[in-house]
Amino acid sequence: SPPRPIVSIKGLEKTYASGHRALKGVDLEVHAGEIFALLGPNGAGKTTLIGIVCGLVRATAGTVIADGHDIAQDYRAARAKIGLVPQELATDMFETVWHAVNFSRGLFGKPRDHAKVEEVLRALSLWDKRNAKIGALSGGMKRRVLIAKALSHEPSILFLDEPTAGVDVELRRDMWDMVRRLREQGVTIILTTHYIEEAEEMADRIGVIDQGEIILIEEKHALMEKLGRTRITIGLK
Ligand code: ATP
Repeated sequence: SPPRPIVSIKGLEKTYASGHRALKGVDLEVHAGEIFALLGPNGAGKTTLIGIVCGLVRATAGTVIADGHDIAQDYRAARAKIGLVPQELATDMFETVWHAVNFSRGLFGKPRDHAKVEEVLRALSLWDKRNAKIGALSGGMKRRVLIAKALSHEPSILFLDEPTAGVDVELRRDMWDMVRRLREQGVTIILTTHYIEEAEEMADRIGVIDQGEIILIEEKHALMEKLGRTRITIGLK
C-alpha cells in the first residue's frame, strides 16, 4: 500500500519581523511510521519549521496538517498529536521525574492516568529514577526525561530538534536506539540534525534544507550517493 502522509506541509513561509525570510515556501510530506531526518546547516530554518508545526511560531503563509488536523484551524487537536523534544535540556530541575512527566500529560488535556505515566517511564528506563530531581540526573537521563515528557500525552508524531547536539558518542548511540524503539511502537519520528552520519544512521528518508528551502527529499540511500558529490557546495559538516 502507498505511504500514508501523517504530516503535510504546503507552501510554508516565514518572514520574521526583522525581515529575514527563514522559510521560503516549504513543501514536505512525512509518511506514517517513518523516521524522517531534516538535515541542514546552522540557520537553515529547521527550528523555525518545527516551531510552526508545534505552534510556537506563527507562519507567514502556508498550511500544516498533522495527523488529519490543520494547525491553523484546529490547533489543539493538531498539537495533541505531536510530541516535541526541544534542543535545550530540561529546565524544571527541582521537579521529580514522575511529576514532570505526569504534569506534561495534563498540559495536553489528557485524563490522569498513572499507569500510562509508568509505561512511558519504563519505556525510557526512567522508572527507577522516578523520584529523582531532574537537576540531579546526568545529561543522558535529562534527555530521556525530555523524551518522556514529549511522549506523555501519547502523540503519533515525535519531533526531535537536534537530539544529539553536544552529546558524547555513547549517548548518541543510546539516543539512536531509543528512537528506533519508538518507531517500532508506531510513532512517526521527525528529527533535525547537522550531522550527515546521524541522518544516514537513523532515517528512512532525508530532506535537506538550506537557507529556508528544501533542496532535496530522497530515500536515504539515494541521497547519500548524491551528497557524496554535493556536500561541499551546500556547506554541511
Ligand atoms: P540551528 O541549527 O542553528 O538551530 P536552524 O536550521 O534551526 O539553525 P532557525 O533557527 O530556524 O535555523 O533559523 C533560521 C533563520 O531565521 C536564521 O537566519 C535565524 O537567524 C533566523 N531567525 C530565527 N529566529 C528569528 C527571530 N525570532 N527573529 C529574526 N530572525 C530569526
